[in-house]
Amino acid sequence: MANQETGSSSSSAPQGHQVQLQQEEEELLSIYGAESGWVEARTSCDHLASLSADLAHIPTPDTPCYRCQHPNENWLCLCCKDVLCSRFVNKHMLQHFQQSNHCLALSYSDLSVWCFSCDAYLDAQVIMQLRPVYETAYILKFGEAPPFRRV
Ligand SMILES: [Zn+2]
Ligand SMILES: [Zn+2]
Ligand SMILES: [Zn+2]
Repeated sequence: MANQETGSSSSSAPQGHQVQLQQEEEELLSIYGAESGWVEARTSCDHLASLSADLAHIPTPDTPCYRCQHPNENWLCLCCKDVLCSRFVNKHMLQHFQQSNHCLALSYSDLSVWCFSCDAYLDAQVIMQLRPVYETAYILKFGEAPPFRRV
């Protein structure tokens, strides 16, 4: 460790003084998640407070996008129950999130739940707040209750 000061003059500097900035090496912890492209659904989410209070009644999975009428690849906003198309169609769900900050959406294609704020899928069978709407959507889509995974 070279921590020595250059033995410059201890005399009085006539005008102004030179400030020597000592650069300390700080270790910046880059909290960049656990690498790997492995996509695993999260079992917790900090944004569940924005869930709609009434998810017992939701539009059917064949509901077209409210904005462009696209018939499939749609998402259900779990905050206001709007049905909007995916980022692979006209990005209306994504735009909805950007405009309203409604970050929780359920895919009517595969019933996965996505949180735009977490930027991750959520495990709707583990997160208790999501389970009822997942079940409801499943029944609407398949006409029967989902097979329960033993956790
Ligand atoms: Zn919404
Ligand atoms: Zn759309
Ligand atoms: Zn979240």
